[in-house]
Amino acid sequence: FVILGIESSCDDTSAAILKDDTILSNVTASQAIHEQYGGVVPELASRAHQQNIIPVVDAALKKAAITLKDIDLIAFTQGPGLMGSLVVGTAFAKSLSLALNKPMVAVHHMHAHILAHFINEGVPVPGFPFICMTVSGGHTQLVRVDSPTELIVLGSTIDDAAGEAFDKTAKILGFPYPGGPLIDKYAKEGNPNAFSFAKPQVDGYNFSFSGLKTSVLYFIQKEVAKNPNFIEENKADLCASIQATILEILFKKLRKVAADTGIKDIAIAGGVSANSGLRAKLAEEGEKSGWNVFIPKFEYCTDNAAMIAIAGKFLAEKKQFAHQDVSANARLPFVKP
Ligand code: ATP
Ligand code: FE
Repeated sequence: FVILGIESSCDDTSAAILKDDTILSNVTASQAIHEQYGGVVPELASRAHQQNIIPVVDAALKKAAITLKDIDLIAFTQGPGLMGSLVVGTAFAKSLSLALNKPMVAVHHMHAHILAHFINEGVPVPGFPFICMTVSGGHTQLVRVDSPTELIVLGSTIDDAAGEAFDKTAKILGFPYPGGPLIDKYAKEGNPNAFSFAKPQVDGYNFSFSGLKTSVLYFIQKEVAKNPNFIEENKADLCASIQATILEILFKKLRKVAADTGIKDIAIAGGVSANSGLRAKLAEEGEKSGWNVFIPKFEYCTDNAAMIAIAGKFLAEKKQFAHQDVSANARLPFVKP
């Protein structure tokens, strides 16, 4: 059974071929154009998706050594994301479904980030129920996953997402967008206890990051006024301290949800799960707390179509097909059990 996955929710155009549980190809065209603007420009993203989608799908087919007629199912990201970006993938999937006379499934982007764990890589997968902390550019959620299609959001951010906390503080330090990977890189050589920043307190399983961003901004402004080279001279320590603060905010709630539910299988997903500090800390916490931890393969952390294809497989098994009246939804609500 061959599935073509298509992802176009933000600034990456991606196509993947999944055969049974195995990824044959996963091709992504990233859009460098946004770097100079310090963030994704929706109109430019939409236009770049239009240019990229056909070459990317072609490349995925070629790499998998199959042709369009071998495809049994088309899975695409319906939302959430940028409207102009989502419509490109959605319109493409609908046209292809019509042309090939093959069924399609509409996938929720955050659902797919989680189900990326079930791509067959020959490693153990989480058992149900498990807790997934989904940390990405637009979301920060604690999700209880009861089955591939039954997911309950236990908590989420009340302001910025974890990825935004990385990117916005990186911007304060003068890094290009997206700054998350750069903070990760410099943090490796820095002291995480060099500086201390605000850890906003929120109830329950929710998160808050906007206070951290403000605290970094005020601190930097104050120090740069005294020493214009402050950032350059303290880059590694600043990055390590910012990263440690973000991780502390995340783990406080993760520990709480694990303790309250007694669930031992703990996973992370989404773009920020590519962060080396987060990956190391989860492994460490797992040892300490007796958790079985699940860390996605690096290439399935940030946006990719492989995760859309595997999500498509589970939805098709539940006969949750989409029809030609389906449309992109920038604010698509999370799957309901
Ligand atoms: P969403 O999935 O919520 O719709 P998105 O699709 O834009 O948002 P992803 O591609 O899942 O987001 O993740 C991108 C985010 O991950 C960016 O904020 C980026 O800075 C962050 N990120 C990627 N790699 C790292 C890293 N190594 N360390 C920290 N953050 C990282
Ligand atoms: Fe994403």
